[in-house]
Amino acid sequence: MPASASVPVLLPVFLVTDILCACILAQLLALRKAGVAGTRSWIAANIAMVAYLPALGLRAVLPLVFSVVLSNGLGLLAASLFYIGCARFLGRPTHARGWLLLVCCALAGLLWFTLVEDVIRLRVIIASGGIAVVFVATAYLLWRHRPPGQGAAVYWLGACCSTATALLHASRAIYYGAGFGNLSDLFANTLVNVLSMSLTAALVPGLSMLAAAMVQQQLLSDATWRAERDGMTGTLTRQSFESRIVADLQRAHISGDAFCFVLADLDFFKRINDNHGHQAGDRVLVAFTELIRRQLRAGDYIGRMGGEEFGIALPATPPAEAMRVAERLRQAVAAQQVVTDSGSLRYSVSMGLAVHAAGASFSDLYRHADQALYAAKQAGRNAIVSQDGSAQQACTALRNCCKPA
Ligand code: GH3
Ligand code: MG
Ligand code: MG
Repeated sequence: MPASASVPVLLPVFLVTDILCACILAQLLALRKAGVAGTRSWIAANIAMVAYLPALGLRAVLPLVFSVVLSNGLGLLAASLFYIGCARFLGRPTHARGWLLLVCCALAGLLWFTLVEDVIRLRVIIASGGIAVVFVATAYLLWRHRPPGQGAAVYWLGACCSTATALLHASRAIYYGAGFGNLSDLFANTLVNVLSMSLTAALVPGLSMLAAAMVQQQLLSDATWRAERDGMTGTLTRQSFESRIVADLQRAHISGDAFCFVLADLDFFKRINDNHGHQAGDRVLVAFTELIRRQLRAGDYIGRMGGEEFGIALPATPPAEAMRVAERLRQAVAAQQVVTDSGSLRYSVSMGLAVHAAGASFSDLYRHADQALYAAKQAGRNAIVSQDGSAQQACTALRNCCKPA
Protein backbone atom coordinates (compact mmCIF):
# COMPACT_ATOMS: atom_id res chain seq x y z
CA MET A 1 0.00 0.00 0.00
CA PRO A 2 1.47 3.42 -0.85
CA ALA A 3 2.45 5.78 1.91
CA SER A 4 -0.31 8.26 1.10
CA ALA A 5 -2.95 5.65 1.93
CA SER A 6 -1.68 5.53 5.47
CA VAL A 7 -2.52 9.15 6.24
CA PRO A 8 -6.23 8.71 7.04
CA VAL A 9 -5.41 6.02 9.63
CA LEU A 10 -2.23 7.43 11.15
CA LEU A 11 -3.22 11.08 11.28
CA PRO A 12 -6.03 10.59 13.83
CA VAL A 13 -3.68 8.45 15.93
CA PHE A 14 -1.07 11.21 15.93
CA LEU A 15 -3.77 13.82 16.53
CA VAL A 16 -5.03 12.02 19.66
CA THR A 17 -1.45 11.67 20.92
CA ASP A 18 -0.80 15.32 20.20
CA ILE A 19 -3.85 16.44 22.15
CA LEU A 20 -2.77 14.27 25.10
CA CYS A 21 0.78 15.65 24.90
CA ALA A 22 -0.58 19.21 24.85
CA CYS A 23 -2.68 18.50 27.97
CA ILE A 24 0.31 17.04 29.79
CA LEU A 25 2.34 20.04 28.65
CA ALA A 26 -0.19 22.27 30.42
CA GLN A 27 0.15 20.12 33.54
CA LEU A 28 3.96 20.32 33.45
CA LEU A 29 3.78 24.08 32.90
CA ALA A 30 1.62 24.37 36.03
CA LEU A 31 4.14 22.27 37.97
CA ARG A 32 7.07 24.37 36.71
CA LYS A 33 6.51 26.99 39.43
CA ALA A 34 7.46 24.43 42.07
CA GLY A 35 11.00 24.54 40.65
CA VAL A 36 11.57 20.77 40.67
CA ALA A 37 14.74 19.92 38.71
CA GLY A 38 14.08 18.43 35.28
CA THR A 39 10.63 19.98 34.77
CA ARG A 40 11.91 22.53 32.22
CA SER A 41 13.56 19.83 30.11
CA TRP A 42 10.39 17.73 30.19
CA ILE A 43 8.39 20.80 29.11
CA ALA A 44 10.82 21.35 26.22
CA ALA A 45 10.55 17.64 25.33
CA ASN A 46 6.76 17.95 25.21
CA ILE A 47 6.87 21.04 23.01
CA ALA A 48 9.20 19.21 20.58
CA MET A 49 6.86 16.20 20.67
CA VAL A 50 3.74 18.31 20.04
CA ALA A 51 5.48 19.77 16.95
CA TYR A 52 6.96 16.41 15.85
CA LEU A 53 3.78 14.37 15.54
CA PRO A 54 1.79 16.50 13.04
CA ALA A 55 4.91 16.86 10.86
CA LEU A 56 5.24 13.05 10.82
CA GLY A 57 1.52 12.49 10.32
CA LEU A 58 1.42 14.85 7.35
CA ARG A 59 4.25 13.07 5.55
CA ALA A 60 2.14 12.62 2.42
CA VAL A 61 1.40 16.32 2.19
CA LEU A 62 4.53 18.07 3.46
CA PRO A 63 7.88 18.20 1.59
CA LEU A 64 10.34 15.51 2.74
CA VAL A 65 12.61 18.02 4.42
CA PHE A 66 9.78 18.76 6.90
CA SER A 67 8.08 15.38 7.16
CA VAL A 68 11.29 13.35 7.34
CA VAL A 69 14.24 15.50 8.37
CA LEU A 70 12.59 18.04 10.65
CA SER A 71 10.01 15.69 12.17
CA ASN A 72 12.51 12.92 12.97
CA GLY A 73 15.00 15.49 14.25
CA LEU A 74 12.27 16.86 16.55
CA GLY A 75 11.40 13.33 17.68
CA LEU A 76 15.01 12.59 18.60
CA LEU A 77 15.34 15.99 20.28
CA ALA A 78 12.19 15.28 22.32
CA ALA A 79 13.57 11.88 23.39
CA SER A 80 16.95 13.43 24.36
CA LEU A 81 15.27 16.23 26.30
CA PHE A 82 13.16 13.63 28.08
CA TYR A 83 16.36 11.82 29.12
CA ILE A 84 17.94 15.12 30.24
CA GLY A 85 14.79 15.88 32.31
CA CYS A 86 15.01 12.47 34.01
CA ALA A 87 18.74 12.92 34.68
CA ARG A 88 18.22 16.41 36.15
CA PHE A 89 15.31 15.17 38.24
CA LEU A 90 17.38 12.28 39.62
CA GLY A 91 20.47 14.45 40.15
CA ARG A 92 22.54 12.50 37.60
CA PRO A 93 24.82 13.80 34.83
CA THR A 94 22.70 14.87 31.85
CA HIS A 95 25.28 14.17 29.08
CA ALA A 96 23.51 17.07 27.31
CA ARG A 97 26.41 17.68 24.90
CA GLY A 98 26.45 14.01 23.89
CA TRP A 99 22.72 14.04 23.17
CA LEU A 100 23.00 17.32 21.25
CA LEU A 101 25.77 15.77 19.17
CA LEU A 102 23.56 12.72 18.53
CA VAL A 103 20.67 14.95 17.38
CA CYS A 104 22.99 17.01 15.11
CA CYS A 105 24.57 13.90 13.57
CA ALA A 106 21.12 12.37 13.02
CA LEU A 107 19.89 15.59 11.41
CA ALA A 108 22.93 15.71 9.14
CA GLY A 109 22.44 12.04 8.22
CA LEU A 110 18.73 12.51 7.57
CA LEU A 111 19.42 15.57 5.42
CA TRP A 112 22.06 13.71 3.42
CA PHE A 113 19.97 10.60 2.84
CA THR A 114 16.98 12.73 1.86
CA LEU A 115 18.40 15.49 -0.30
CA VAL A 116 21.70 14.10 -1.58
CA GLU A 117 21.01 10.38 -1.74
CA ASP A 118 17.47 9.18 -1.29
CA VAL A 119 18.10 6.11 0.91
CA ILE A 120 14.99 5.40 3.00
CA ARG A 121 16.55 2.37 4.71
CA LEU A 122 19.33 4.47 6.26
CA ARG A 123 16.86 7.18 7.25
CA VAL A 124 14.85 4.60 9.20
CA ILE A 125 18.00 3.28 10.89
CA ILE A 126 19.08 6.81 11.88
CA ALA A 127 15.65 7.99 13.13
CA SER A 128 14.44 4.84 14.89
CA GLY A 129 17.90 3.67 15.95
CA GLY A 130 18.61 7.07 17.56
CA ILE A 131 15.38 7.02 19.55
CA ALA A 132 16.02 3.41 20.62
CA VAL A 133 19.46 4.41 21.99
CA VAL A 134 18.01 7.34 23.98
CA PHE A 135 15.27 5.21 25.52
CA VAL A 136 17.62 2.36 26.46
CA ALA A 137 19.62 4.99 28.38
CA THR A 138 16.39 6.42 29.89
CA ALA A 139 15.18 2.98 31.01
CA TYR A 140 18.54 2.28 32.66
CA LEU A 141 18.55 5.69 34.36
CA LEU A 142 15.05 5.29 35.81
CA TRP A 143 15.64 1.73 36.91
CA ARG A 144 19.12 2.25 38.36
CA HIS A 145 18.76 5.62 40.04
CA ARG A 146 15.19 5.70 41.32
CA PRO A 147 15.19 7.67 44.59
CA PRO A 148 14.89 5.59 47.75
CA GLY A 149 11.95 6.16 50.07
CA GLN A 150 9.53 7.20 47.30
CA GLY A 151 6.91 5.06 45.58
CA ALA A 152 8.97 2.90 43.22
CA ALA A 153 6.04 1.99 40.94
CA VAL A 154 6.25 5.18 38.87
CA TYR A 155 9.97 4.61 38.20
CA TRP A 156 9.49 0.95 37.33
CA LEU A 157 6.65 1.89 35.00
CA GLY A 158 8.83 4.63 33.47
CA ALA A 159 11.64 2.13 32.93
CA CYS A 160 9.19 -0.39 31.38
CA CYS A 161 7.64 2.22 29.03
CA SER A 162 11.12 3.42 28.02
CA THR A 163 12.19 -0.17 27.34
CA ALA A 164 9.04 -0.80 25.29
CA THR A 165 9.66 2.41 23.27
CA ALA A 166 13.29 1.41 22.72
CA LEU A 167 12.26 -2.10 21.62
CA LEU A 168 9.63 -0.77 19.22
CA HIS A 169 12.09 1.59 17.54
CA ALA A 170 14.96 -0.91 17.57
CA SER A 171 12.82 -3.59 15.91
CA ARG A 172 11.67 -1.05 13.31
CA ALA A 173 15.28 -0.04 12.62
CA ILE A 174 16.39 -3.68 12.35
CA TYR A 175 13.34 -4.89 10.40
CA TYR A 176 13.50 -2.21 7.72
CA GLY A 177 17.21 -1.40 8.02
CA ALA A 178 18.36 -5.01 7.58
CA GLY A 179 16.05 -5.46 4.64
CA PHE A 180 13.46 -7.82 6.17
CA GLY A 181 10.61 -5.41 5.57
CA ASN A 182 9.33 -3.90 2.37
CA LEU A 183 10.09 -0.18 2.55
CA SER A 184 6.90 0.71 0.72
CA ASP A 185 5.08 -0.67 3.81
CA LEU A 186 6.88 1.74 6.16
CA PHE A 187 3.77 3.79 6.90
CA ALA A 188 1.17 1.52 5.28
CA ASN A 189 -2.00 0.42 7.01
CA THR A 190 -0.59 -2.97 7.94
CA LEU A 191 -1.56 -4.58 11.23
CA VAL A 192 2.06 -4.40 12.50
CA ASN A 193 2.33 -0.71 11.64
CA VAL A 194 -0.98 0.26 13.17
CA LEU A 195 -0.10 -1.75 16.30
CA SER A 196 3.36 -0.24 16.65
CA MET A 197 2.13 3.31 15.92
CA SER A 198 -0.74 2.94 18.39
CA LEU A 199 1.67 1.65 21.02
CA THR A 200 3.98 4.59 20.35
CA ALA A 201 0.98 6.90 20.55
CA ALA A 202 0.22 5.53 24.02
CA LEU A 203 3.83 5.36 25.22
CA VAL A 204 4.76 8.95 24.32
CA PRO A 205 2.09 10.71 26.44
CA GLY A 206 2.38 7.87 28.97
CA LEU A 207 6.02 8.71 29.59
CA SER A 208 5.22 12.41 29.97
CA MET A 209 2.43 11.57 32.43
CA LEU A 210 4.91 9.51 34.43
CA ALA A 211 7.31 12.48 34.45
CA ALA A 212 4.51 14.68 35.82
CA ALA A 213 3.72 11.95 38.38
CA MET A 214 7.39 11.89 39.45
CA VAL A 215 7.27 15.66 40.02
CA GLN A 216 4.00 15.40 41.98
CA GLN A 217 5.29 12.50 44.05
CA GLN A 218 8.46 14.44 44.86
CA LEU A 219 6.46 17.55 45.82
CA LEU A 220 4.14 15.51 48.02
CA SER A 221 7.02 13.76 49.72
CA ASP A 222 8.82 17.11 50.31
CA ALA A 223 5.64 18.68 51.68
CA THR A 224 5.00 15.70 53.97
CA TRP A 225 8.61 15.77 55.13
CA ARG A 226 8.42 19.48 55.90
CA ALA A 227 5.07 19.16 57.68
CA GLU A 228 6.35 16.36 59.91
CA ARG A 229 9.77 17.84 60.68
CA ASP A 230 11.16 20.51 62.90
CA GLY A 231 12.61 23.17 60.61
CA MET A 232 15.95 23.54 62.38
CA THR A 233 16.94 20.03 63.44
CA GLY A 234 15.04 17.93 60.88
CA THR A 235 13.72 15.70 63.72
CA LEU A 236 10.01 14.85 63.90
CA THR A 237 7.80 17.56 65.37
CA ARG A 238 6.20 16.75 68.68
CA GLN A 239 2.85 16.16 66.97
CA SER A 240 4.12 13.73 64.33
CA PHE A 241 6.39 12.01 66.85
CA GLU A 242 3.40 11.43 69.11
CA SER A 243 1.18 10.12 66.30
CA ARG A 244 3.92 7.73 65.24
CA ILE A 245 4.63 6.52 68.77
CA VAL A 246 0.92 6.04 69.52
CA ALA A 247 0.61 3.81 66.43
CA ASP A 248 3.76 1.92 67.44
CA LEU A 249 2.46 1.41 70.98
CA GLN A 250 -0.70 -0.17 69.57
CA ARG A 251 1.45 -2.49 67.44
CA ALA A 252 3.62 -3.34 70.47
CA HIS A 253 0.46 -4.06 72.45
CA ILE A 254 -0.69 -6.55 69.80
CA SER A 255 2.69 -8.16 69.17
CA GLY A 256 3.73 -8.15 72.84
CA ASP A 257 7.11 -6.57 71.94
CA ALA A 258 8.85 -4.42 74.51
CA PHE A 259 8.88 -0.68 73.75
CA CYS A 260 11.10 1.90 75.41
CA PHE A 261 10.97 5.66 75.37
CA VAL A 262 13.81 7.99 76.26
CA LEU A 263 13.34 11.65 77.12
CA ALA A 264 16.62 13.50 76.54
CA ASP A 265 17.32 17.06 77.68
CA LEU A 266 20.52 18.97 77.04
CA ASP A 267 22.25 20.02 80.24
CA PHE A 268 22.76 23.67 81.14
CA PHE A 269 21.63 24.69 77.71
CA LYS A 270 20.68 28.16 78.86
CA ARG A 271 24.32 28.59 79.87
CA ILE A 272 25.44 27.66 76.36
CA ASN A 273 23.16 30.35 74.96
CA ASP A 274 24.30 32.87 77.56
CA ASN A 275 28.01 32.16 77.14
CA HIS A 276 28.24 31.53 73.39
CA GLY A 277 25.15 33.13 71.91
CA HIS A 278 21.88 31.82 70.58
CA GLN A 279 23.40 30.82 67.23
CA ALA A 280 25.92 28.60 68.99
CA GLY A 281 22.99 27.08 70.91
CA ASP A 282 21.23 26.35 67.63
CA ARG A 283 24.43 24.80 66.28
CA VAL A 284 24.59 22.51 69.34
CA LEU A 285 20.96 21.44 68.81
CA VAL A 286 21.69 20.54 65.17
CA ALA A 287 24.93 18.74 66.06
CA PHE A 288 23.14 16.82 68.81
CA THR A 289 20.33 15.60 66.56
CA GLU A 290 22.73 14.71 63.73
CA LEU A 291 24.79 12.67 66.17
CA ILE A 292 21.77 10.89 67.63
CA ARG A 293 20.40 10.04 64.18
CA ARG A 294 23.74 8.57 63.19
CA GLN A 295 23.81 6.49 66.36
CA LEU A 296 20.24 5.21 66.34
CA ARG A 297 19.40 1.82 64.88
CA ALA A 298 17.03 1.32 61.95
CA GLY A 299 13.46 1.61 63.28
CA ASP A 300 14.38 3.97 66.16
CA TYR A 301 13.35 7.60 65.77
CA ILE A 302 13.70 10.99 67.41
CA GLY A 303 11.31 13.91 67.83
CA ARG A 304 11.71 17.40 69.25
CA MET A 305 9.39 17.68 72.23
CA GLY A 306 10.20 21.36 72.69
CA GLY A 307 13.25 23.59 73.16
CA GLU A 308 16.26 21.40 73.97
CA GLU A 309 14.17 18.36 74.94
CA PHE A 310 13.93 15.38 72.59
CA GLY A 311 12.00 12.10 72.63
CA ILE A 312 13.69 8.94 71.37
CA ALA A 313 11.52 5.93 70.53
CA LEU A 314 13.09 2.50 70.72
CA PRO A 315 10.57 -0.01 69.34
CA ALA A 316 11.00 -3.75 69.96
CA THR A 317 13.69 -3.02 72.55
CA PRO A 318 13.79 -4.62 76.02
CA PRO A 319 14.74 -2.28 78.91
CA ALA A 320 18.30 -3.60 79.37
CA GLU A 321 19.02 -3.11 75.67
CA ALA A 322 17.41 0.35 75.75
CA MET A 323 19.69 1.29 78.65
CA ARG A 324 22.70 0.21 76.58
CA VAL A 325 21.51 2.27 73.60
CA ALA A 326 20.91 5.32 75.81
CA GLU A 327 24.33 4.94 77.42
CA ARG A 328 25.97 4.76 74.00
CA LEU A 329 24.19 7.98 73.04
CA ARG A 330 25.14 9.70 76.29
CA GLN A 331 28.81 8.82 75.81
CA ALA A 332 28.79 9.92 72.16
CA VAL A 333 27.29 13.27 73.16
CA ALA A 334 29.80 13.77 75.98
CA ALA A 335 32.63 13.10 73.54
CA GLN A 336 31.31 15.46 70.85
CA GLN A 337 32.95 18.80 70.21
CA VAL A 338 30.77 21.37 68.50
CA VAL A 339 32.49 24.02 66.46
CA THR A 340 30.74 27.38 66.74
CA ASP A 341 31.67 30.94 65.79
CA SER A 342 32.84 31.48 69.35
CA GLY A 343 35.06 28.41 69.39
CA SER A 344 34.41 24.73 69.94
CA LEU A 345 32.50 23.58 72.96
CA ARG A 346 31.39 20.42 74.67
CA TYR A 347 28.06 19.68 76.27
CA SER A 348 26.14 16.81 77.84
CA VAL A 349 22.69 15.31 77.95
CA SER A 350 20.56 13.78 80.67
CA MET A 351 18.01 11.09 79.91
CA GLY A 352 15.00 9.48 81.50
CA LEU A 353 14.04 6.04 80.29
CA ALA A 354 10.52 4.61 80.49
CA VAL A 355 9.27 1.16 79.56
CA HIS A 356 5.87 0.73 77.99
CA ALA A 357 3.50 -1.33 80.13
CA ALA A 358 0.57 -3.17 78.55
CA GLY A 359 -2.52 -0.95 78.39
CA ALA A 360 -0.63 2.25 79.29
CA SER A 361 -0.97 5.32 77.09
CA PHE A 362 1.75 7.52 75.64
CA SER A 363 1.07 10.18 78.25
CA ASP A 364 1.78 7.55 80.96
CA LEU A 365 5.02 6.68 79.19
CA TYR A 366 5.94 10.35 78.84
CA ARG A 367 5.17 11.06 82.50
CA HIS A 368 7.39 8.18 83.66
CA ALA A 369 10.23 9.26 81.35
CA ASP A 370 9.88 12.86 82.59
CA GLN A 371 10.11 11.74 86.22
CA ALA A 372 13.21 9.67 85.40
CA LEU A 373 14.71 12.64 83.56
CA TYR A 374 14.11 14.83 86.59
CA ALA A 375 15.93 12.24 88.70
CA ALA A 376 18.83 12.25 86.20
CA LYS A 377 19.08 16.02 86.51
CA GLN A 378 18.97 15.73 90.30
CA ALA A 379 21.69 13.09 90.15
CA GLY A 380 24.05 15.67 88.70
CA ARG A 381 23.18 15.62 84.94
CA ASN A 382 25.07 13.84 82.14
CA ALA A 383 23.25 10.77 83.43
CA ILE A 384 20.54 8.28 82.57
CA VAL A 385 17.88 7.20 85.01
CA SER A 386 15.43 4.45 84.25
CA GLN A 387 11.80 4.50 85.32
CA ASP A 388 12.53 1.72 87.83
CA GLY A 389 15.08 4.00 89.51
CA SER A 390 18.24 2.38 88.17
CA ALA A 391 20.84 4.89 87.09
CA GLN A 392 23.62 4.59 84.61
CA GLN A 393 27.05 6.10 85.05
CA ALA A 394 26.20 9.57 86.19
CA CYS A 395 29.35 11.26 85.02
CA THR A 396 30.46 14.52 86.55
CA ALA A 397 33.33 15.29 84.24
CA LEU A 398 31.23 17.55 82.08
CA ARG A 399 29.08 19.01 84.76
CA ASN A 400 30.56 22.38 84.03
CA CYS A 401 29.85 21.84 80.38
CA CYS A 402 29.69 24.52 77.78
CA LYS A 403 33.20 25.59 78.66
CA PRO A 404 35.33 25.88 75.57
CA ALA A 405 36.90 22.47 74.84
P1 GH3 B 1 18.91 21.85 82.61
O1 GH3 B 1 20.24 21.25 82.66
O2 GH3 B 1 18.23 21.85 83.94
O3 GH3 B 1 18.05 21.29 81.54
O4 GH3 B 1 19.14 23.39 82.31
P2 GH3 B 1 18.90 24.16 80.98
O5 GH3 B 1 19.64 25.42 81.03
O6 GH3 B 1 19.23 23.26 79.83
O7 GH3 B 1 17.34 24.34 81.00
P3 GH3 B 1 16.46 25.63 80.95
O8 GH3 B 1 15.05 25.15 80.84
O9 GH3 B 1 16.76 26.55 82.10
O10 GH3 B 1 16.89 26.39 79.64
C1 GH3 B 1 16.61 25.88 78.37
C2 GH3 B 1 17.03 26.95 77.39
O11 GH3 B 1 16.92 26.47 76.06
C3 GH3 B 1 16.19 28.18 77.46
C4 GH3 B 1 15.84 28.50 76.03
O12 GH3 B 1 16.11 29.82 75.71
C5 GH3 B 1 16.76 27.60 75.24
N1 GH3 B 1 16.19 27.20 73.96
C6 GH3 B 1 15.00 26.62 73.71
N2 GH3 B 1 14.84 26.42 72.40
C7 GH3 B 1 15.97 26.88 71.78
C8 GH3 B 1 16.41 26.96 70.43
O13 GH3 B 1 15.74 26.55 69.47
N3 GH3 B 1 17.61 27.49 70.19
C9 GH3 B 1 18.42 27.98 71.22
N4 GH3 B 1 19.58 28.47 70.92
N5 GH3 B 1 18.01 27.93 72.48
C10 GH3 B 1 16.82 27.40 72.79
MG1 MG C 1 18.09 21.48 79.53
MG1 MG D 1 14.47 21.48 78.98
